[in-house]
Amino acid sequence: MVKKIAIYGKGGIGKSTTVSNMAAAYEKDTFVIGCDPKSDTTRTLVGKRIPTILDTMKKNKEPLFEDVVFEGFNNTLCVEAGGPEPGVGCAGRGVIVAMKLLDKISAFKSNPELVIYDVLGDVVCGGFSVPLREDYADEVYIVTSGEYMSLYAANNIAKGVRKLNGKLGGIICNCRNVKDEVEIVTEFASLISTKVISVIPRSDLVQKSEYNACTVLEMFPDSDQSKLYNELVNKIVNNDSFSIPTPMTIEEFETFFHKYV
Ligand code: ADP
Ligand code: MG
Repeated sequence: MVKKIAIYGKGGIGKSTTVSNMAAAYEKDTFVIGCDPKSDTTRTLVGKRIPTILDTMKKNKEPLFEDVVFEGFNNTLCVEAGGPEPGVGCAGRGVIVAMKLLDKISAFKSNPELVIYDVLGDVVCGGFSVPLREDYADEVYIVTSGEYMSLYAANNIAKGVRKLNGKLGGIICNCRNVKDEVEIVTEFASLISTKVISVIPRSDLVQKSEYNACTVLEMFPDSDQSKLYNELVNKIVNNDSFSIPTPMTIEEFETFFHKYV
């Protein structure tokens, strides 16, 4: 196994899009683990929603590998942790249950070259911090745009990474076409002692392929967008410079952001 990474970011910022397209772009075997109660990380890889570990375990307390791991596009293996019904129970519990089960069924027995955890980052709870802990992910990448709330969540994630002695590999700027976006995200990255590893533009091809339950890689393999996801995943696999982030205080964060308003 070459690398195990966790992708964190605010809900709706583009984590699952980035994760699924990176997995589809990587030429070697990739294992994708959706850790968001939305459970839609792997939909575009498998072509449909797969049963989640939490749902499967409601009926079957001891599921086997084949009950929870599904094959997706381009040699990917896909898992969804799942979450409770909206309004009921703890959102992070699915992650804890899923991690235990993946250990028990030796999920990585096929020795994938890359393991990617797709994790929600705007809820600070024990469940969502599990992939960050030792033995799960080796390093963390944060997806953000240049928007206030997305950067605010990114700063909180940096706090979590620091607290848990995690290694931050960099920031993926997933553009929302905000004014001065790359400049904002680049300055943010340097302020928290990391770097922007890739800039992914906003593209209609993402929606078109998502509508067809496909990745951009599958539907538009020759597009510039596909090339960028390919570059991103290869940069991450080859990245060997990490940092312990230095998150900002709320006051520092406000001062930083107000320069751009
Ligand atoms: P998250 O997993 O962080 O909650 P998603 O990956 O589901 O976010 O993305 C949220 C929405 O934003 C999706 O409907 C997706 O189509 C859209 N999106 C994400 N990245 C891009 C992009 N680079 N260009 C266009 N649309 C995007
Ligand atoms: Mg998602």
